[in-house]
Amino acid sequence: MRTRSRSQPRAVPCEACGREPAYSFSWFADPADWYGERSGTWRITGNCTADSEQYYVLFRRRGRDGFLDSAAAQAEWIAHLREKVWFNIWDFTAMLDRFVEAGGSLRTAGPRRRLVKP
Ligand SMILES: [Zn+2]
Repeated sequence: MRTRSRSQPRAVPCEACGREPAYSFSWFADPADWYGERSGTWRITGNCTADSEQYYVLFRRRGRDGFLDSAAAQAEWIAHLREKVWFNIWDFTAMLDRFVEAGGSLRTAGPRRRLVKP
């Protein structure tokens, strides 16, 4: 019989201060290219950037709307972000790679879906 691992993925530290667990993917506009096409920087952050980030996507929200809550929520976030002119999916996915590298997990319950349409 297969059993699901009950171990939680490791908390990923905030990239800004390194001293708190991160809870959001946060976007910082580039002052030299304010909301420009595919601009700005995505970082994995906690509370310390709450006043300096221009946009954020929570890891978890009501067990439903967070990026890590479900495959459907993840796909919806990506579709939503792709409509924004400033969204740089390459910077975003590079951040997701760092998240996984730091011990985070992008796996969600439910059926797997493609994150990005070709
Ligand atoms: Zn921090």
